[in-house]
Amino acid sequence: MRTKMVAGNWKMNKNLQEGIALAKELVEALKNQEPKCAVVIGTPFIHLASVSEVIKGSVIKLAAENCADKEKGAYTGEVSAEMVRSTGAEYCILGHSERRAYYHEDCDILREKVLLALKNDLKPIFCIGEVKEERESGKQNEVVKAQLEGSVFNLSAEDFGKITLAYEPVWAIGTGLTATPEQAQDMHAFIRSLIAEKYGKQVADDTTILYGGSCNAKNAAELFANPDVDGGLIGGASLKAPDFCAIIAAR
Ligand code: PEP
Repeated sequence: MRTKMVAGNWKMNKNLQEGIALAKELVEALKNQEPKCAVVIGTPFIHLASVSEVIKGSVIKLAAENCADKEKGAYTGEVSAEMVRSTGAEYCILGHSERRAYYHEDCDILREKVLLALKNDLKPIFCIGEVKEERESGKQNEVVKAQLEGSVFNLSAEDFGKITLAYEPVWAIGTGLTATPEQAQDMHAFIRSLIAEKYGKQVADDTTILYGGSCNAKNAAELFANPDVDGGLIGGASLKAPDFCAIIAAR
């Protein structure tokens, strides 16, 4: 049975004090809820060490939103996978469409980041997804396939097994335009079929594939009801504890 998961992505929101307060609120709320899925929060780098202390002993696991594509050294302003891991974070979101679009992270850079994350015992939450024009011209499957082939299908089956995938159609991120449950299921099933072709059915069946893109407390249950949708990567709705907890409860 593959892991079901709801993961938050705070992005560049919340100062340190606000982030600690949100983490405390989540710990308190989830104590009563006893979630039926893994719960991860992805925070900015500066929050990681503090939030790691706050969530100790709770069900919540911690993710960074990025890591460097270099191991260490003279890369001013960068944060390495080893540094991330030393905060207590267990996961690292990689390949988010905002990183691809605004920071020019291509498949080669992301392949390096994935390798460094794995080398440092961080589990990547690897994001893939097409932009609006690609969806409109029916190219979504080839785009997603190329993203997988470019950055993670080089891995051994054992390492691939440490990866969580997040299908995030870019046109749905932060736009309020959610993929329909059918669109999400179709793509997730397609992704699983690609994994099966590459690594075999068992690895495909064991891979957690999250949906991301304007997922909220209202539409989560409908999206999660699909057999190949194993949970969600949640942006905006992860910034308010009641909303995030409602999504967790829907899983
Ligand atoms: C995201 O950025 O990963 C995301 C899914 O954002 P939102 O939920 O706000 O669309």
